Amino acid sequence: MSLARIVLLLFVTASAAFAQVPNCKVCGGSGREPCAKHAKVECPLEDSVRFCSFVAKCADCGGAGFVACKKCAGEAVLKTLAKKRERVALEAEKLASYDETMGRPLRKGSTDHFTLVFELDDLKVEKRLLHSHELLHLYLQRLEALYADYVTLLDARHADFRERFQVFVWYLDPDQMKASLAFCEQGAPAGVKLMGAHPRFSTCANKRWFTTDEQLHRDLLHMVSHLILSHEEPQAWMGNQKGGWAEEGLGHWFEYRGFQRCDNYCFQEQNTNNDYKGGDYKLLCRKLVATDDAPAIASVFERNTDTLLRDEHVVAFSYVDYLLSLDGAKFGKLCADLRRKVPTREALQKHFGLGPLEFERRWKEWVLATYPTQKD
Ligand SMILES: [Zn+2]
Ligand SMILES: [Zn+2]
Ligand SMILES: [Zn+2]
Ligand SMILES: [Zn+2]
Repeated sequence: MSLARIVLLLFVTASAAFAQVPNCKVCGGSGREPCAKHAKVECPLEDSVRFCSFVAKCADCGGAGFVACKKCAGEAVLKTLAKKRERVALEAEKLASYDETMGRPLRKGSTDHFTLVFELDDLKVEKRLLHSHELLHLYLQRLEALYADYVTLLDARHADFRERFQVFVWYLDPDQMKASLAFCEQGAPAGVKLMGAHPRFSTCANKRWFTTDEQLHRDLLHMVSHLILSHEEPQAWMGNQKGGWAEEGLGHWFEYRGFQRCDNYCFQEQNTNNDYKGGDYKLLCRKLVATDDAPAIASVFERNTDTLLRDEHVVAFSYVDYLLSLDGAKFGKLCADLRRKVPTREALQKHFGLGPLEFERRWKEWVLATYPTQKD
C-alpha cells in the first residue's frame, strides 16, 4: 500500500469516528474544529500521533489539535477528544525525562511504536521547505511505515516487540555527544545504536552529516531496521554473533527499496554516509557475479557487522533480497535463529532446505536472471 493511501485511510477513519451532524456549517459534519491556536493545515497531523510537543501544552485543545464543534458536538466527540487529551498528558509525563536529561524542552512526538526527538529547524523535502513541526510528523510517519513494512515482510508478530523504539535526531553536535551517552550508553559524534531490550538510536543531522532529506531518511531506514531486528523476540543483536550479513543485508534492502541506492555502513558504533561506486547494489552485485568476483559465501556467513568488507555488503544485500523473494516469513524465522546463535548454514538448511553451496548456486543464477546490467 502506498504512503499516500495509508495517510488517506487514516484520515478517512479519523473523520468517520467523529461524524456528527452531516451538514453542520461550522465543522462540515466531523463534530470538531481545528484548534484556532495552530496552523489549520497542521491540525490533522495530530490524528496519527499519540503526542506532539508543538501542541501538547495548548490550553484550548490540550494537545488534541482539535476542539469540539460548538454547534453540533455530541457525546461521542467529547469523549474521543477527552481521551486524546488524557493520553497526551500521560505521554507528556513519560517523555519528560528527555527534557530533564537535556536541560531544555525538546521537539518531540510519539506514535504507537516510536518516540522521536527531532531537533532540526527545517529541511527541504522534495521541492518544499518543511519546518520543525511538519518534519517531526513526517519522520514519525516514515518510522511507522518502516515498522509496518518490517512486520509484513518478515511476518512478525506485534506481540514480539515490547518497547517503543526511541529515535533522536539532533542538530547541535554537543547535543548528540551528550544524548548518545545518556540514552544509548555510548558517546559518539553520530549514529549510535543501542540494540536489544531498549532499542534506541541517536544521531546528529546537521549539514556536516547529512545534506539532504533523502540521505537522512535513508540513514534512518537502515539504522532503525537494525533496532527492529534486534528488539524482536528473542531479543539479541545478531551483528556481533556472525549475523552481520543478515543485519546489514536487511538494512541495505530497506535503503535500496526506497531509493535504489545504499550508502550507509555500520563500522563499530559509527555509521558513515558513504557512496560506494554510486551505491546501486543491484548493478554492483550483478557485475561481481558475472565476473566471478563475488566474495566467498563461507567467509560472508562468518562475519560480524563491523568486519564486513565493501563487496561483502553488496552480496549480503543480495542474499537478503533473494531470500525475501523466496519467502519473507521464512527469512524472519531464520533471523530469529541467528539471534539464538544458530549458525547461518544450519538456519538456512532448516528454513529453506538449502546448504550454503546450493544456496550460492541458485542465488547466482537468480542475480544473473533478474538484476539489471545497467541503470534504466
Ligand atoms: Zn458541527
Ligand atoms: Zn504536531
Ligand atoms: Zn490547541
Ligand atoms: Zn548497518
